[in-house]
Amino acid sequence: MKKLLNYINGELKAPAGGKYLDNYDPSRGKVYSLIPDSGPEDVEEAVKAAQAAFGEWSTKTAKERSEIMMRVSQLIDKNREHLAKAESLDNGKPLKLARTVDIPRARDNFAFFATAILHDEDPFYNMGTAGFNYTLRQPIGTVGCISPWNLPLYLFTWKIAPALAAGNCVVAKPSEVTPMTAFLLSELCIEAGMPAGVLNIVHGTGPGAGQAMVEHPGVKAISFTGGTKTGEHIARTAAPMFKKLSLELGGKNPNIIFADCDFEKTLSTSVLSSFANQGQICLCGSRIFIERPIYEKFRDAFVEKVKKLQVGPPLEESSKMGAVVSKPHMDKVLSYVELAREEGGTVLYGGERVPQAGEFSEGYYLQPTVIEGLSYDCRTNQEEIFGPVVTLTPFDTEEEVLRMANSTNYGLAATIWTQNLNRAHRVASEVQSGIIWINCWLVRDLRTLFGGMKASGVGREGGYEALHFFTEPKNVCLQY
Ligand code: NDP
Repeated sequence: MKKLLNYINGELKAPAGGKYLDNYDPSRGKVYSLIPDSGPEDVEEAVKAAQAAFGEWSTKTAKERSEIMMRVSQLIDKNREHLAKAESLDNGKPLKLARTVDIPRARDNFAFFATAILHDEDPFYNMGTAGFNYTLRQPIGTVGCISPWNLPLYLFTWKIAPALAAGNCVVAKPSEVTPMTAFLLSELCIEAGMPAGVLNIVHGTGPGAGQAMVEHPGVKAISFTGGTKTGEHIARTAAPMFKKLSLELGGKNPNIIFADCDFEKTLSTSVLSSFANQGQICLCGSRIFIERPIYEKFRDAFVEKVKKLQVGPPLEESSKMGAVVSKPHMDKVLSYVELAREEGGTVLYGGERVPQAGEFSEGYYLQPTVIEGLSYDCRTNQEEIFGPVVTLTPFDTEEEVLRMANSTNYGLAATIWTQNLNRAHRVASEVQSGIIWINCWLVRDLRTLFGGMKASGVGREGGYEALHFFTEPKNVCLQY
């Protein structure tokens, strides 16, 4: 069975304690590889390597750093089919999705930040005859990047790339649930000639390797994407050490549909925004609010379309949905369907496992699930499920839908469907979310800021926001 290795000081290494964890293929429900169960000793070694590499990496010119990062980007592109297959196997997502979204985006993350540093400017404040100020943005040193399992290489590189581009050295931990493409990335970094110690990838559990990174005094900033509870815990550990923190956390996103929407576009995009990646995207719209005049028409058309979504083995081209990521996650999603029933909801479609034949019979396949008849403030409508489950709720007025949309602790993303431009912008300004899409979903320009408010996070990623997070700004004032 394949054993993954840590990537420390430019080398692939077994964990210091010699212990490994099982890595599951969710499409078959079987262990298919082993990953290092790293601990504080491995993190210590990685931090030391990063500290030793910092002097040389941080003093390279932007162009030199850019060239090395572009080589990584090009190697991701060259190996895209291999990486897409690995991502699909490790996560359970349809190969088509990994091929068209995850891997191209990982390639673009490296290319985007590698070129952004060539164009960044630092502010200059002229005080006329008195003198001037300028801002120096300097790399922080060794930083920690921790990412989740839903978009493994996509989110891992979304953190690592700006950190490296800004001149930092990185100790990174992918989710233990989906470690494979991070391991393959370490091989590509070696091939690209990334200097030893600049990027270190330590595999293992959150409480083991992750906690050791957050606690390590040598790790000066933490960029974390994951669940809100984990984010709270990380903030409690890191805040008293005055570490810089970027937290991208959970969501319970509203999808607000007014009666004057472009019906067909709204319908097809809402099916995607509900069930893409088995509903395991932090930006999925899990609460669908529909204006009453079109409620029944939309509901019936939505359910008809959802019934046609093919759930099956991720490598099969016909599969529109694959397996959810793990057995515990599948059980959690099913427990929420049960809760919805207890709370008085009607399951219009789904709510069950989808049996598969042969080698896939133990896989974690779930039906896309549509529920109506719940109050907006019940637990099903307030807590993050992070799976293929959406609720439908009618509304009568703009005020009412805003109250319901803003009722959760979360504030990550929202989608608004209407042809009325005034209303679109008014609602966009009132919805408590860091990211708003009007008449579209998941349209991304990497220059734009990305992140949530309330319990969905602290800080923003994307564009110069991400690049600047990984620097320590310093004002320099000179008087003539
Ligand atoms: P978790 O919070 O469980 O884990 C995220 C990462 O943190 C994993 O690498 C995990 O390791 C690690 N971790 C866990 N405990 C600790 C700890 N004590 N110290 C340091 N690291 C730790 O999230 P999931 O992986 O389950 O991801 C799903 C969540 O991510 C959802 O809530 C989703 O909304 C959110 N998310 C948010 C996004 C955003 O941009 N706002 C984007 C994508 C997802 P391990 O896996 O090994 O336990």
